[in-house]
Amino acid sequence: MIHYHTYRSYLKKRFGKPVLKIPLNGGFSCPNRDGTASTNGCLFCDNRSFSPVADRTAEPTLRQLQSIISRPGAAGKPLLPYLQPFSNTYGTVDRLKAVYEPLLEVPGVTGLAVGTRPDCFTEEVFRYLADLSRRTYLSIELGLQSSHDSTLALCNRGHTWNDFLNTLDQLATDGIETVAHVMIGLPGETSDMIYETALRLGNLPVRGVKIHQLMIIAETEFAEWYRTGRCEVLELERYSELLCGFLERLRPDQHIHRIVADATRENGLIAPLWSADKTTALRYIHRYMDEHDVRQGKLLTV
Ligand code: SF4
Repeated sequence: MIHYHTYRSYLKKRFGKPVLKIPLNGGFSCPNRDGTASTNGCLFCDNRSFSPVADRTAEPTLRQLQSIISRPGAAGKPLLPYLQPFSNTYGTVDRLKAVYEPLLEVPGVTGLAVGTRPDCFTEEVFRYLADLSRRTYLSIELGLQSSHDSTLALCNRGHTWNDFLNTLDQLATDGIETVAHVMIGLPGETSDMIYETALRLGNLPVRGVKIHQLMIIAETEFAEWYRTGRCEVLELERYSELLCGFLERLRPDQHIHRIVADATRENGLIAPLWSADKTTALRYIHRYMDEHDVRQGKLLTV
C-alpha cells in the first residue's frame, strides 16, 4: 500500500527515470549566524550533522558535483544538484549566478534544488529565480520548522510565519516549486500545534514537505537544554504517531521529501539514538503505517 506521495516518485515520473539528487555546499552563510538576524543560530542547528557536505566550504561547488558524478552509479541518471547547508539564496544575484549557473551546464543536470530561509530573498533574487525556473526545473526549499511564532521564537529562528507566507506567495506567483521543511518534536509543541502546521501547509501553494524529528546534537543550545531537562526527544513510536497524523492532514498531492532524518554519534548525535539507524527507523514507521492504515490526506477527505 502506498501511504504517502514521495518526491522520489514525482521526480521519476517527471524525468522518466530515477533522479540522482546530489547534496552540494554552495559556500553561502546564514543571516541567523552572521549577526544579521542573530549570531546564535537556531538552537538545534549543527549543519555538520544535518548535511553530509556542510564542511566542504573550501571546495568549489562545481568540483564537488564533478567528483560525485564521476563515481560509478551516476552514469545515465538525470542529476539534480541540491544546495543544502546554510542559506543558499543569501547573497547578491551575481553571487548566486556564479554558483548556480555552472552546475546547470554539466551534462545530465536536469535542474536545481536550493535550500534556504524565508528571509533570504530580495526583489532581484526573486526576479533571477523566476527567470531560472523558466529555463530549468527549480525547487526552493524553505526552512520553516513550525507555523507557530511562539515555537519559532523559542528556537531562535529569527523569522516569523508571516515571513514564510510572504516569501511563499512571491515564489508561487513566479511559478516556482516550493518545499517546506518542518520538524516534529520541538519544545513546547503539542500534537494539536503540529497538526495545525500540516493543515496550514495543506492550504498553501506548497508543493513539497520535508519532515524530520528533533535531534539533539552536541554543542548546540538544545544539547544544554536536554542535559538540564528543558527539552525532551520523541520515542520512535510517538514520533511515528505524530508523523502519521501530520501526513494525514497534508494534501494528498504534496510531495513528501523525507519522513525521518539520521545523524551519527561521531557527528554529535546525543538523542534520540534511534536517529542513528535510519533503515530500522523507516522499517518501524512503515510497519506503523501498515497497521494503522495511514494515508496522506486521509483526514481531509472523511
Ligand atoms: S537557518 Fe539553518 S543554517 Fe541558519 S542557524 Fe538555522 S538551521 Fe542553522
